[in-house]
Amino acid sequence: MKIVVLIKQVPDTTEVKLDKKTGNLIREGVESIINPDDRQALELALQLKDEYQAEVNVLSMGPPQAIDVLSEALGMGCDRAVLLTDKAFAGADTWATSTVMGKALKKIGDFDLILCGRQAIDGDTAQTGPQIAEYLQLPQVCYVDEIEKYEDGQITLRRRNEAGYERLAVALPALVTVNNISTAPRYPMMLNLIAACSEKAPIEIWNAADIGARHDELGMAGSLTQVIKTFSPKSKRVGELFSGDVPDAVSKVLGKVREAHLLS
Ligand SMILES: Cc1cc2nc3c(=O)[nH]c(=O)nc-3n(C[C@H](O)[C@H](O)[C@H](O)COP(=O)(O)OP(=O)(O)OC[C@H]3O[C@@H](n4cnc5c(N)ncnc54)[C@H](O)[C@@H]3O)c2cc1C
Repeated sequence: MKIVVLIKQVPDTTEVKLDKKTGNLIREGVESIINPDDRQALELALQLKDEYQAEVNVLSMGPPQAIDVLSEALGMGCDRAVLLTDKAFAGADTWATSTVMGKALKKIGDFDLILCGRQAIDGDTAQTGPQIAEYLQLPQVCYVDEIEKYEDGQITLRRRNEAGYERLAVALPALVTVNNISTAPRYPMMLNLIAACSEKAPIEIWNAADIGARHDELGMAGSLTQVIKTFSPKSKRVGELFSGDVPDAVSKVLGKVREAHLLS
């Protein structure tokens, strides 16, 4: 079983701040980490490695420093890592990102399962996984929190929906997006980390030419999205503080709640 896990390097914050002048994300001074949902996808892949001797590949698109998250993934126990990096990829929206990832996945080839996070904490669109599945014409299952079994070329998995859970069997190859798994992702092992940072580490670096991408498919030229303006929404809520004696404050709060017809 050959698995490819897609991991994105993201700033270690859920409070994304925007530069007021340029509208760009402020990344300076913020540490970078493996996107939390992707770390969970890594853990599920490594559980499949433990149980079925799966080969686990990791793929990331980003600037050269994204090599750090790939090294960490190798430290956790992954077998091979590929970094997609090229100035031509800059300015890519989710469509152009999915095209690049799709082409790289074709080059990796022979995969049975692609695992990605449900959503990245910086871009937050949850579009990349499903778009890659469409690009590669693969079945996709989103919001998966458990892979129960791999047998006869298919996996049985559990996904969450609004009402509870669904158990599904999916023929491979397929793409699965992951979140809310029940086990904590494992820590990298020191020896693996040292090996991952050595010159012999199994990390390959691919550019646009390596994946056979045309210039008009990449970066801004290949993006369907046009950002007209970015801004932080102004909060319309006005808070009211009730201070002083507690019973008195509580009855004032209840009065307000009744006034708003939230309580009869
Ligand atoms: C017009 C425009 C210009 C942009 N320019 C830039 C830019 O110059 N530089 C930049 O960094 N971003 C840029 N972005 C943001 C970039 O398009 C998104 O970060 C990217 O497409 C992924 O979308 P997302 O963050 O919403 O991820 P989601 O779709 O929420 O991610 C879902 C999952 O897909 C996988 N995934 C997503 N992205 C990657 C990745 N890069 N590598 C590996 N796996 C991944 C992960 O498993 C992740 O959990 C731009 C966006 C727009 C709209």
